[in-house]
Order: sequence, then C-alpha cells, then structure tokens
Amino acid sequence: MNVLVLNAGSSTLKFQVVRTDAERMAANKDEKLARGTIERIGGEAVYTLRGKNGEPQRGTEQMRDHRSVVDFVVKWVMSEASGTGITRISEIEGVGHRVTHGGEQFVRSVKIDDAVIRGIEETIDLAPLHNPHNLRGIHAARAALGSGVPQVAVFDTAFHQTIPERAYLYALPYQFYRRHRVRRYGFHGTSYRYIGHRYRMLTGRSRDDTKVVALHLGNGASICAIDKGVSIDTSMGFTPLEGLVMGTRSGDLDPAILDYIAAKEGLTLGEVEGVLNKQSGLLGVSGLTNDMRELLDEAKEHDDRRAWLAIEIFCYRVRKYIGSYLAAMNGAQAILFAGGIGENAAPVRALVCEGLAWMGVKLDEQRNRATVGGAEGKISTDDSRVEVWVVPTDEELLIARDTVRVIEGLESRY
Ligand code: ADP
Repeated sequence: MNVLVLNAGSSTLKFQVVRTDAERMAANKDEKLARGTIERIGGEAVYTLRGKNGEPQRGTEQMRDHRSVVDFVVKWVMSEASGTGITRISEIEGVGHRVTHGGEQFVRSVKIDDAVIRGIEETIDLAPLHNPHNLRGIHAARAALGSGVPQVAVFDTAFHQTIPERAYLYALPYQFYRRHRVRRYGFHGTSYRYIGHRYRMLTGRSRDDTKVVALHLGNGASICAIDKGVSIDTSMGFTPLEGLVMGTRSGDLDPAILDYIAAKEGLTLGEVEGVLNKQSGLLGVSGLTNDMRELLDEAKEHDDRRAWLAIEIFCYRVRKYIGSYLAAMNGAQAILFAGGIGENAAPVRALVCEGLAWMGVKLDEQRNRATVGGAEGKISTDDSRVEVWVVPTDEELLIARDTVRVIEGLESRY
C-alpha cells in the first residue's frame, strides 16, 4: 500500500511517501519512496523535495494555504521527478496524519471520519498551537484526494494513555482535572512506540521481557519509562514544556517564577510562558543557540563558559530523570537514545552516562563515538549491567504502518 504521511504545522508541512504492508512490516522492508518539507506556507513557500535516490530539489512557489500545499505535494509525487512510480491519484491508497493531541479520547490510531474530526476539534483547547494545523492537513488531503481515500490519525499522546493515575495526575485540586482535564498527557508517543518496538526487534526480547528508559532528545526532548511495552511515565506533561531542558524550552521549574518574572520584567503571564517556550533551554542559558551541535563546537573550540553550562544543565537533567525513572520501574535493562541529539551527539551521551556508573552503566567509548549519523546499536560494554543503545527513531514509518494497520484492520498493539 502506498501511504502519504503528513505532518502539518502552522507554516510548515512535512511529508513522506512510504510503501508498506503486513509482509514488509514484519520483514522491516518498508520502502521509503519520497519525502519533503514545505516551509513558509501562506506566501512564497520554500520547498525541499527528495525522490527515492535523487538529489534534493529546492525551490519556491506561491502557496497560500495547506490546501495548495497538499495539491502541490500530490502533483509532485505523481510526477516523474519524484521517482515514486506513482502516476495516478488512486495509487495513493491511504493518508496518515500526525496529530499532536488526542486528549483522553484517542488511545490509539483511528480512521478519520466526521466524528473523529469533531473529537480532534474538541481537543483544540489542549493544543491550540498544533491541532488546528493538523486539522487543516486533514481537510486539505480530503479535498485533494477525495473522500474515497482512507485517512488515519496517529496521535502523539496516545501511547501515554497507559500511564497510571498516580503518575498522570498533578497534585492540584482534583476538580481541575475533572473540570478542565488538567493532567499529564505526554508527547513523542509515536517515537517511543517505534523505539520500543525496534529495541525488541534488535534484541529478540518479548514485550513482557522488556523494561527500558527511552530518551527522545531532539529540539524538543523527553524521556519515557516503558515497562512490558507500555508507557508508565513520561516527562512532558500537560504541554510539551515540562521535563527535560530543550532547545528553547526550560523544562521543569518552580511555577512561582512565572508571576515573579512577570512583575519584575513587566510582562503578562502569557508573555512569560512564551519566554519559557521560545527563549529558554539551551538557547536561554548559552545566549548563543538552541542547536546542540553548535554548542558542542563552541565549547570545544572556544571553551565558551555558557555553552558548557547549557550542555551540563541539559545532561544533568537527563541523568536525574533517568535515576527517577529507574526508581519508578525498579530498575531497567536498557537506556535507549534517540532524536537528533540522542542519535548524533556522542559527547552528550557520554556525559549523561558518566554519572550513572554507580548503577552499572558502562559506556564503550569506541562504540559510543562510532554510533552516529543514523547508525543503531549497543554502545555499552558487554559487561555493563544496564545496556545502553542508540535506536534512531522513525515516526513517519510508524505512522505509515499504523495507517495500513487501521485501514486493513490488522492487529496493532500499543
Ligand atoms: P526535532 O525535535 O525538531 O525533530 P531533531 O530530532 O532533528 O529535532 O534534533 C535536533 C537537534 O539535534 C538539534 O539540537 C541539533 O543540534 C541536534 N543534532 C543534530 N545533529 C547533531 C550532531 N551531529 N551533533 C550534535 N547534535 C546534533
């Protein structure tokens, strides 16, 4: 089945075309046919398109909304330049959408119909910056491909709906949960499902036999405790602001700081929240950049004090969370690294694990340095009591697989 995977944001849309079915999934032989990114939707949009083997094609074109973007993508996918071999709309047999927030309503991926659209609309309150754009993507795909092409929604929150009450409830007046659904939802769920599954494939372990702490360290960063294949806790909360230090987000802090900073700096609470989301984290501490690669370069080449500080605060927070999740799970057999930083920044992995020697985590320096740029594998020594792995994530692939599973009614465990 040829699946178009769409990840629609406010001004950016990412897509992939994946050919997969039950057999290919089982053999891990799904085919990535094409992918691309369209940025600055609403004006002169900038596109980067990559066919199966070819060089990236870059350019600009006027695209005023998501509808014109999806039309553009579909037209390109069907063109010879894409190399997909797809020439007719009917050969796009399913569309998988990344949807940020499924609230408590969506605990797994679902086929999109009017009721599902209403459900996603009802969740807009919880994710005002994301769900409306995801919905635009859904409407655009419906318009471009016709209602005959099945569409599936894959939620970033769904995997975490197994988290027990004691971990998802905040110690706030209970009516805030009852009235306003204020609780931990968690994000990056699609990524964690993929990482957990891939780790089981790589090690031959069964679900029941796995207890891991997974780290998705990208521009957004979080950690997840996965016991017997299901999420039992995660660091992002009601919004993606909670938890680890991120590119531009602060992660955990004392909530009393908000009001204090608002008064001192003459800002509204909304503005302070904006600072916590967009001007904090690695960027805020370093005063330089939200990009871990640049920080590592600065720290190495110029011994920049604040670049170091940002890296240290980042790694220390990760280490603290690993410790607390190991306590929450009574230990684990492995720590898994994923995301742009987790997959590439060997010095960060080394710093994180350095403090974990007490519990038997021994990194193999050589393996750690060598496992970058999309490589996967174990980076701990063979006698390390807790294994450490790099497991590159692939959210788009999981969305494509879920799309096929939902459309064909195949069994899919979360
Ligand atoms: P997003 O959360 O936006 O999907 P990514 O998972 O792509 O983000 O991760 C982006 C982060 O990964 C950036 O901080 C970037 O600096 C970091 N990164 C990518 N490559 C490297 C590298 N070679 N060394 C260190 N950090 C890297």
